Amino acid sequence: MTNVYQCQACFGTYADTNPDGSAYMHQCAPVFDAKAGVWVSAQNARNELLVLDRRGRPAGIVSAGAGVQAVTPNAPAQPGWITTMQAKVDA
Ligand SMILES: [Zn+2]
Repeated sequence: MTNVYQCQACFGTYADTNPDGSAYMHQCAPVFDAKAGVWVSAQNARNELLVLDRRGRPAGIVSAGAGVQAVTPNAPAQPGWITTMQAKVDA
């Protein structure tokens, strides 16, 4: 089941599942600092790309950042694929 979340760092909304059924891994887009004239990482940026352990197995996400808020009613607190992955890591 696809659920929609709002990133609490960049406030972007996204579905946790791609159209092909694979997991969508949110990464905050860079933010333009007009004073400095450069692109910078969002404060408390979220990055759901996988961190792998030495054996190449998923060990977590890069950064939870400021977290997420479920937009879909009754959705779990975070994308289901992350909970499933974390359960395997903790097992
Ligand atoms: Zn974000």
